[in-house]
Amino acid sequence: MTADGLTYPDSVHSHVDLLFRRVPGKGPVLKKYAALGIETVGDLLAHYPWRYADSREVTDIASLTVGHNVSLVAQVRSAEIRHAQKTGKPRVEAKVTDGTRTLDLVIFMPHEAAAKFHLQRLVPGSLGLFSGQINLFNGRLQLANPTYAIFGHEVDEAVALEEAEWPIPIYPATAGLESDKIRAAVRSVLEPLTEQDVPDPVPDQVRVARHLASRWSALRGVHLPRTEDDWRKAQARLRYEEAFVLQAELARRRARAQREESTARPARPGGLLEAFDARLPFVLTEGQVAAGEQIAADLARPQPMQRLLQGEVGSGKTVVALRAMLQVVDAGGQAALLAPTSVLAAQHVRTLRALLGDLAEGGLLGGSEIGTRVAVLTGAQSAAERRSNLLEAASGQAGIVVGTHALLSDPVQFADLGLVVIDEQHKFGVEQRGRLQAKAAKTPHLLVTTATPIPRTVAMTVFGELEISELRHVPAGRSGVTTHVVPADNRAWMDRTWSRVREEVERGGRAFVVCARIDEDSDAGSRDGDGADLILDEPTTVGEAQAAAQRAPKRPLRAVLEVAETLRGDPRLGGVAVGLLHGRMTAEEKDRAIADFASGRTPVLVSTTVIEVGVDVPAATAIVILDAQVFGLSQLHQLRGRVGRGNAPGLCLLVADAPEGTVAAQRLGALAATTDGFELARVDLELRREGDVLGSAQSGRRGTLRFLRIVSDAAVIERAREDAQALVEADPELTAWPALRAAIDLQLADGREDFLGQS
Ligand code: ADP
Ligand code: MG
Repeated sequence: MTADGLTYPDSVHSHVDLLFRRVPGKGPVLKKYAALGIETVGDLLAHYPWRYADSREVTDIASLTVGHNVSLVAQVRSAEIRHAQKTGKPRVEAKVTDGTRTLDLVIFMPHEAAAKFHLQRLVPGSLGLFSGQINLFNGRLQLANPTYAIFGHEVDEAVALEEAEWPIPIYPATAGLESDKIRAAVRSVLEPLTEQDVPDPVPDQVRVARHLASRWSALRGVHLPRTEDDWRKAQARLRYEEAFVLQAELARRRARAQREESTARPARPGGLLEAFDARLPFVLTEGQVAAGEQIAADLARPQPMQRLLQGEVGSGKTVVALRAMLQVVDAGGQAALLAPTSVLAAQHVRTLRALLGDLAEGGLLGGSEIGTRVAVLTGAQSAAERRSNLLEAASGQAGIVVGTHALLSDPVQFADLGLVVIDEQHKFGVEQRGRLQAKAAKTPHLLVTTATPIPRTVAMTVFGELEISELRHVPAGRSGVTTHVVPADNRAWMDRTWSRVREEVERGGRAFVVCARIDEDSDAGSRDGDGADLILDEPTTVGEAQAAAQRAPKRPLRAVLEVAETLRGDPRLGGVAVGLLHGRMTAEEKDRAIADFASGRTPVLVSTTVIEVGVDVPAATAIVILDAQVFGLSQLHQLRGRVGRGNAPGLCLLVADAPEGTVAAQRLGALAATTDGFELARVDLELRREGDVLGSAQSGRRGTLRFLRIVSDAAVIERAREDAQALVEADPELTAWPALRAAIDLQLADGREDFLGQS
């Protein structure tokens, strides 16, 4: 039994399963460990310090927060023994200082001798590490019953002096299980271990090639560092390991998909694809050609394509996807296109039918011989319509089936589903993708497109089981979009905003006006058209919290119905016709609203974010986004991507209530500063905590990424992906690497699956 109430095995021999043993100890202590997510010895060793204190450096007392468990380095100023009036029990009262402020310490003792023992240790002038929970007593910060170690005052003076120079690991802790208790527990588990006791998920050959330490020495480096260099090197090795384990699993999944059989769908000369290309009113960009070639080659193989097509908003991903579908139809298969909203599904159908013309009337009198039919399945269809479309899909008459999630429902069948395209991917989960794939006899080819660009390493992680094609550039000849932030409370600017809208319309343009809500009753969080990804202002900085407080009472967010009503009578718009679009309208109403907008009948369209994804009206030149402060950066970039698609320059006005210095203001500033979606994605990840990218998997529990930063560690991820790929090529199921397999299982067991599946 040690001072912290734990018992440890006397000797620890070589066991691979050692790490799965339960943390030694009894009831209450175990509960406290469990609260920190620690159940096994392996968990304990993976409970990494979140920072290191320098024993020569004192901690700023001003930075302490009531209720937090802290470990601080401070100097003893005074210490004395007092007694409780009623019971006469002694307590030690001490003050420690960081040089500027002092903090009260109180240690309650059962008898005088014990109190005196503390007094001998708490010699004024000595430095020590004090750990415990900060609370408030009589209006002063106080550390009650701390655990502490006085530097240079240990039993073995020489060792103590040396150890006092070591960086002090500070662990995530909890009341009653303070950092230095955890440190002692980790130490007693780790010290007897040898290199052979700690299985290493990173194979020797990789380690040697990458000059990485073993897992054992990395654990010693993070938990028992002698120098700053020790823990930095150890963290680097563990960072690589996190990337490697993840990439190994992804490589294994890619390899598994490659072992599945699919039907080869090679391009066929003289088919629909050629006819489509001949009718395209533009020349494909270099990027589109390159991505098209990769996809064409994938489809021609008898293994399922697994490809992500990602790129800039407006870069023409949809055309690339449509061309892939036509290649499959030419080869005798069917292609399904899954769109996130019915508005978008309808638009894809229009594009296809317009470009295919009579080729889309296969089987009809006057239709072309090589033609096919385009079936549509959305939730809002009449029963008769739905039946005939279902029939076309099941009979194979329709080579192309476009739909929303209604495509996933049970009655939908295909004659020979060869390709699944998932447009604007982030709206679909992996399970839904699986449901669509299950409708095919052999695994169909898969193409996924993203709505906005994502940094390559994020794609490699979140969509890691997919190969990646990238469209970096938008087609030439677009005049681009100018973006301005308009303070909502500035009358003159608001006047100018609405007269700019009128001017755009007078020049033949169209203007979107985007609101966060439908009406006064709906809240912005309700996901209209599943587009909304609103940031419902949690203040993220102290400054922001203050600003939010000063801003009260908070203005309600502008709503579509109310804004449309106001604009209709607004002299600044000079009688321009105003249309409406939101998620509560029927599919037909939505279609009509978009059509009226496109044709110019209602050249101003007040809408929710239902237009966010993919809506393509080339005549749209202006977009006014009201309450822009509540939208996420990638969403704003998407919304802005709705304009400036034709030859006329676009204008994006962000009407916002975003005091300077807030994160919202930073987001809007970034958006105004660049139209490069890859750059914005990077900024976005920096502004949000990175955890949001990976969802709950990043919550800091075991098995999650502790050291790896998806964006800034791009190079590490690339290297790990290369190494993992090579390993899996030689040994697809990693049979020779049990430690790696165990590490993968451990990671996936804890919800990592969720974020791999988020793709
Ligand atoms: P996104 O990549 O955002 O899905 P879209 O596929 O909707 O972009 O394309 C945006 C617009 O650009 C559409 O109107 C499309 O017809 C047009 N477009 C696509 N490719 C080209 C090209 N190579 N040249 C000119 N316009 C193009
Ligand atoms: Mg698109």
